[in-house]
Amino acid sequence: MSGTERVVVVGGGYAGVMAANRMAGSRQVHTPLEVTLVDPAAGFTERIRLHQLGAGRRASAAVPWTDVLNPRVRHLPARALSIDADRRTIGLAGREPLDFDWLVYAVGSGETSTSLLSVTNPEAARATRTAIGGLAPGSAVTVAGAGPTGVEVACAVALARPDLRITIVSPSGPVHPLTGHPAVGRRLRRLGIAVRSGAVDPATGAVTTPEGSRPAAPATIWTAGFAVPSLAADSRLPVAGDGRLLVDGTLTVPGHERILGAGDAVAVAGPAGAHLRASCATALPLGAHAADTVLARSGGGDPSEIDLGYVLQCLDLGSGQGHVRFVRPDDSPRPWALAGRAGGWTKEQICRMTVAWLAGEAAAPGSCRWQAGPPLPVG
Ligand SMILES: Cc1cc2nc3c(=O)[nH]c(=O)nc-3n(C[C@H](O)[C@H](O)[C@H](O)COP(=O)(O)OP(=O)(O)OC[C@H]3O[C@@H](n4cnc5c(N)ncnc54)[C@H](O)[C@@H]3O)c2cc1C
Repeated sequence: MSGTERVVVVGGGYAGVMAANRMAGSRQVHTPLEVTLVDPAAGFTERIRLHQLGAGRRASAAVPWTDVLNPRVRHLPARALSIDADRRTIGLAGREPLDFDWLVYAVGSGETSTSLLSVTNPEAARATRTAIGGLAPGSAVTVAGAGPTGVEVACAVALARPDLRITIVSPSGPVHPLTGHPAVGRRLRRLGIAVRSGAVDPATGAVTTPEGSRPAAPATIWTAGFAVPSLAADSRLPVAGDGRLLVDGTLTVPGHERILGAGDAVAVAGPAGAHLRASCATALPLGAHAADTVLARSGGGDPSEIDLGYVLQCLDLGSGQGHVRFVRPDDSPRPWALAGRAGGWTKEQICRMTVAWLAGEAAAPGSCRWQAGPPLPVG
């Protein structure tokens, strides 16, 4: 190893870009770090806008890499296929393998595998936009899943195509703490969106409700479930039952001091991670904390455990309407919410702030701060 250490960040979403920026620009390094961000995309994806792209209500969810990355981060447009933890090498599609001294694993998530339409990534969202745009007036659309993504995409499609008949189908109806709020129900009714208890077949889109079964609608958008890329499992790194990379409170893979993880793709073991929810509000601080762990260790120090809490959960209900729910640091709901235009305005500011935080970390490394987590059990 020369006087410089090579850090590779795999995945340029909210967690990966935050981690790369924090390390590349840090003045606290004892050994200079050369940071490479591996991501096949041509630009940063604002994933939280993909329901708007899928409905045809925005042309793109991409932001130029130069708008969010510290200029010292090298972006390598490639897909990682394998990680050899012992040799510290990453196999890349169509390129020579890439060696690393430190690795931050941040490949994000998607919905469970399905052949139906979805808005989980830009390609899927564009295919959904094409399919929705091609539907005949009066066609039925099924949205599978009544969580935040299901409700957001249903509202966006209803606004883009008011002539369609949209039904959200989920096993237990809208019981999600955010989407089950009465104000959200009123918004759905106003947009003519029906909500039914039932199950959608992920292969065919056929719907089964207590009243019986019916064939698939002309378009079915799948927003149910949670899945992660199999890269960690395929690389024989320790994973949770759902394939997320297992990390400890410092975001380090146990037994692999130089491999860290952040964002949707990791499961943080122990009490510090028990309340964490897959979201931008988690991915951004985890990315920053993974960087802090690398910076601490490369300087011979001891990293600390992540201490992360929440303030809000929010929902885009389209056309400037939204719903924002205040939560405690452990993510449990407080009895206050912002609905209607106030909720929509707040939600939009939060969406803008996610990109602003990344750009801010590029300009002023170390600037990202976050809310402390709930008190941990003693002992
Ligand atoms: C429609 C929609 C709306 C959402 N709304 C909200 C919201 O309002 N609030 C909220 O907090 N969260 C929201 N989320 C969830 C949020 O987007 C995710 O929690 C967040 O993007 C996770 O960030 P991440 O950095 O872990 O992963 P991602 O943002 O998913 O980024 C992962 C990156 O890894 C790259 N990648 C994947 N595999 C590889 C590989 N093998 N090699 C190299 N690169 C790879 C991908 O190209 C991608 O750029 C929403 C999600 C969707 C789909």
